[in-house]
Amino acid sequence: MIKEKVIRKLRVIPGKIIKLKSFETGWAQNEELKVYEKGVVKERATEILEANRLTLASSQELLWVDNIHSVLIVLQGMDTAGKDGTIRHVMSGVNPQGCRVCSFKVPTPDETDHNFLWRYSRDLPRRGEIGVFNRSYYEDVLVVKVHPELLEGQQLPSGKRGEKFWDARYEDINAFERHLVRNGTMILKFFLHISKDEQKKRILERLETEEKYWKFSLSDLDERAFWDAYQKVYETMFAKTSTDAAPWYIIPADYKWVARTLVADIISTRIQSLDLKYPVLSAEQLKAVESAREQLKKE
Ligand code: AMP
Ligand code: MG
Repeated sequence: MIKEKVIRKLRVIPGKIIKLKSFETGWAQNEELKVYEKGVVKERATEILEANRLTLASSQELLWVDNIHSVLIVLQGMDTAGKDGTIRHVMSGVNPQGCRVCSFKVPTPDETDHNFLWRYSRDLPRRGEIGVFNRSYYEDVLVVKVHPELLEGQQLPSGKRGEKFWDARYEDINAFERHLVRNGTMILKFFLHISKDEQKKRILERLETEEKYWKFSLSDLDERAFWDAYQKVYETMFAKTSTDAAPWYIIPADYKWVARTLVADIISTRIQSLDLKYPVLSAEQLKAVESAREQLKKE
């Protein structure tokens, strides 16, 4: 498992104003790792990812048996940051019955006919489940804040759309998350942090590989033009919405294997911290099991 010390550096301290530039996008936020050759680190990271995949599978079974807690994983990142691939790799060992992945796109008219949190509450994981949000209610303070004209289509009560309006949204999000946490949901929020150069490389890859054409969307280029605006709204959002109950982690994501290993490690460590156990049967229940066994054998 990865050292707590390393993970702590990725967690955004509640209320702290951070600069994304001071968070690495590369493979080694960790000073200790820099002394090793990249190949060695990659090999070790792959081993850790594999170990965590197994731990995650057994933790998820315990969540299911316990049926009290749920886990909500929120994944955000610029286009091409690797959200889909991370989900595929990290969740691959988990029983599909106890896991649900939801991707959020531009809201439909039916969705904007409700409050902005409605569509996300509809898809929350049940007790015992791990839910993954591929984009989330955070889009409503990210893409919508970068393009405030989007609010015009949302049938909101009139009013100024200044700082107060956005502060109210952060407050609503924090209250929503606090409610979920108090009711047994563990919330883990990951920002897959890539550099602008890496995004260029990945978009070009989509444009130069026939099997990847389908991944390209014209909006990827349009939004890239707003790169700096996005970095700024992300920074504000971290300061306003990283809480002790639901912290943000800024994950270096220029190397996919780094991002996947870190995300898997944090999820698996945090679920294990719930210290879930298989139920211990009472003497009476044990007796019932024994007698049922005998009865069946006699058949
Ligand atoms: P993708 O994840 O590549 O399939 O793209 C989904 C698109 O939906 C992205 O461009 C998001 O910015 C956009 N999107 C997601 N949620 C919202 C939202 N609440 N309001 C407006 N656009 C959104
Ligand atoms: Mg896309």
